[in-house]
Formats: sequence, structure tokens, C-alpha cells
Amino acid sequence: MVKFDSVIGHNRIKNYFSRLIEEDLLAPTYLFYGPEGVGKSSFALEIAKAYNCEADVKPCDECPSCKKFSKLIHPDLLIVYPSKPENLRSLAIEQGKLKPDGFDPTKNITIDQVRELQAELTRPPFMAKKRFVLFINADNLNVEAQNALLKTLEEPPENSTFFLITSNIGKILPTIRSRSRLIKFSGLKFEEFKTYPFRTTYPITLLYRLSEGSIGKALKLLETELMPLRIDILNSLLERDPDAFMNAVRSRILNRDEAQDFLKMYMTLSRDLLLAKTGCENLISNVDLKTLIKTAARKLSYREIETLIFTGYEAEKYLSRYMNLESVLTILAGSFTL
Ligand SMILES: [Zn+2]
Repeated sequence: MVKFDSVIGHNRIKNYFSRLIEEDLLAPTYLFYGPEGVGKSSFALEIAKAYNCEADVKPCDECPSCKKFSKLIHPDLLIVYPSKPENLRSLAIEQGKLKPDGFDPTKNITIDQVRELQAELTRPPFMAKKRFVLFINADNLNVEAQNALLKTLEEPPENSTFFLITSNIGKILPTIRSRSRLIKFSGLKFEEFKTYPFRTTYPITLLYRLSEGSIGKALKLLETELMPLRIDILNSLLERDPDAFMNAVRSRILNRDEAQDFLKMYMTLSRDLLLAKTGCENLISNVDLKTLIKTAARKLSYREIETLIFTGYEAEKYLSRYMNLESVLTILAGSFTL
């Protein structure tokens, strides 16, 4: 029997793969797509584990095979990382994370790496019933590399299953897509999300909204300075001080990913201000800052709050096109000078 108890949510997908493994019907190639951080890669690893597990209830996490997969040291687990930095596999093993710190989503998996993989695939698996090949960020494959990989997917080697995993399916060539079974992952439901043991005093409802139901993203948010930045923003609004606003954001936002998260957070704050202003304070997301939000809402006019929301949308559009935080800040700070 196959049971994916350690995976939170995704019940439909879990049931589907349990059946496939029990009946030994895994396809050669799966394309897992959906938002970042919802557990796509970890689930692919659980499938590899379950398939090769020696216990009755799989994956058991205790047999030698399961342990080797969990530690990412199983010789029949091939994880294809971008070519730089070169030590990603050993970092992953060291940190016990499929996507280790130091992983750069902008680096390429090259055609040479695909050729190396192809050479390796001509050999039978070392010890497993089936070998598993994981591309944990398949959009790292550049076009050349995807075209090279296509040949393998067209005539897949026996005893191997490929998992192409991406949060950006638009970057996967249609030819590759059509050779794969597509499995769509979504953000978790709140009921599922809240079962994760987050170590934080921030409201889980807020984390849920900011991360769009992605545990990975929520954990990343907690590592950034985004949550304390909310207080700086509300204070700068109270003081109507655009310079304080810009400086606070500049000092706490480090990169483009964080800039996107910052905008999402900014939108939840603006929305909360509007809710407080209209007397719907029980719907506020940033519940830990309710008092400060109510004070700011009293001080700001409807028109000002509307402008905050409007400029937030403008800034989102701008950021997705030009990726320039300074210009985004200028747009947002403009709403202070009404
Ligand atoms: Zn096992």
C-alpha cells in the first residue's frame, strides 16, 4: 500500500500516484507545474521513495532505500542542477534540501549536462527497481538543452522516470510538454496550510494570504525583513513622510523576488486600511497590527487610501515589466504627496 502521509495537501494528486505505483504504471515523464514552494519537488522525491521502498506501507522512511533517497544519496536518484555553482549536489546533501541555499534560479542547465545525463542513462540502475531523474527547476534548461533532452523523452530509457518540475511552465517548450504527463499543483487550502508547524508569532492567516498557500514561500517570507517593514510603512503613512517610506523599503528589500513580495504585502496593508476606514475591521489580514492600522485609517482620507491601492496596482504592472525597484518606489511614494 502506498500512503503519502508526510505530504501536506494535494490529496487528488497523492491518490493518483498511489494507484499508479501500486499498479506499477508510472509514465516515463511527468511535468509538475504550479506555484513555487507548494511541495512539487518534495513530492517527486516521495514518489521515488515509495516506488523503491521495501516495506508494506510505502514510503516507510526506514528501509535502506528510503533512507538513501531521503538523504539524497541514492545512486539511482539523479538530480539535474544548473551548472553554476558547481557544488549544488553536495550542498543539497549537506543541507538535506532538494533546493539548497546557494541555488540560483537564473542559472542554466546546459546542453553538455543533458549529454552527460544521456550517457549515464545508457547504464541500468545501480540497485533500484527504477531510476528517478529530477529537474527541480526545469525552466533552468535553456532551449538547446531542452531540444537535446527531447530526444531522450521521445525514446525514454527503460527503468527510468523523469520529473520536470517548474513554477514557470511557459518556459517549457511545447514539444517537451506534449511528451510529458502534466500534473498541476495549486496553493494549499488554508485548512492544509495551517497544519504546518510554523515557528512564528505572526498570524497564520496573514502568512497564508501573503504566500498564496505556499509553505515554502511563507518560510522564505519569515526569513526576510518584510514583516517588520509593515510597521515602518504604516508609520511613514501616519507621518505622511515619503522619504521615510522609501528609505525603509530600500533598507529592507534585497532583490527582485522580495520586491514582488513587498508589493503583495503593501497591497494587503492598503486593503486593510480601506477595511478599517469602512468599519469592516474584522476582515483585516494584518491582525497583529490592527491598532496601528485603525489609527492610520482615521488619519488618512478615503481618497488617500484609494490612491494607495491604485498606485499599488500601477507599481505591480511596472515591476513585472521593468523589474526596477527604484521606479516602483517613486510610483508608490507619489501617493504621499496628494
Ligand atoms: Zn522504505
